[in-house]
Amino acid sequence: MLRLSLLHKSVFKCLLAAFLACILAGNTIAQSAKNRHHAASGQDFMYQYSIIDALMAGVFDGDLTIGQLKKKGDFGVGTFNRVDGELLIDKGHVYKISYDGSVKEVPDSDSTSVAFVKFFKADTVIHLNGPGLTYEKVQEQIEHLLNPNGIYALRISAKFSTMTTRAEKPASKPYTSLPEHLKHNQVVFELKNTTGVCAGFLLPPYLARTNVPGFHLHYLADDHKSGGHIFNFTADVLTVEIDMARGFTIENNTNAEFGKVNLQPDRGAELKKIE
Ligand SMILES: [Zn+2]
Repeated sequence: MLRLSLLHKSVFKCLLAAFLACILAGNTIAQSAKNRHHAASGQDFMYQYSIIDALMAGVFDGDLTIGQLKKKGDFGVGTFNRVDGELLIDKGHVYKISYDGSVKEVPDSDSTSVAFVKFFKADTVIHLNGPGLTYEKVQEQIEHLLNPNGIYALRISAKFSTMTTRAEKPASKPYTSLPEHLKHNQVVFELKNTTGVCAGFLLPPYLARTNVPGFHLHYLADDHKSGGHIFNFTADVLTVEIDMARGFTIENNTNAEFGKVNLQPDRGAELKKIE
């Protein structure tokens, strides 16, 4: 009797193990099929609407709606028509950080003149420990780990002891260049002890003129009461989620101004000054 019941137990264990193995194998197959679909549908590429040099030169309006932008990515940065505030997308929600410091989620009917997005799925997560890590130090540590020619979406979460950001007042026509507009219409925020998320990209030098080479991050506080384009920060402990893109797609701005603007000059030095 005893032997029989032991035998039963071991048969049962074998069946259970086989059953679990089937489930696991099924999951793995489903996962790799999902990944294939993810890659095939172009979701692992960065998508950008218009180019940074057009914005620099004063093409402040575009025709892409926020609803259309959301179909291209659930994460990223940009601005709105008339450069009316800083745009940040996280987890499919699109936020506007206005010059008065307020943050609101924007309706799908709003439009953007330039935006850089991706469907975010972290390939790597790293933790950086301070004390007092500056934005510059964080950049050095991240760059040290990554391929200098890669295209990366970065999502950094932390409690920041200091966070310096900006947002701009909307322009009215006739538009000037972005550096000229920012001279008089940029508002800088000095935030203290703020917890939130930095969203944006680390891009290689060959994307200059179309995008911002190096780091370009926007900030959103967890309480949705502050944020903006990041100039500087300090934090002791940071979680950095990294998502490498396989490449990028540029959709040209169809606004008439894009067809007239002179994109010949190299605006790299000017861009560095305002970033
Ligand atoms: Zn920005």
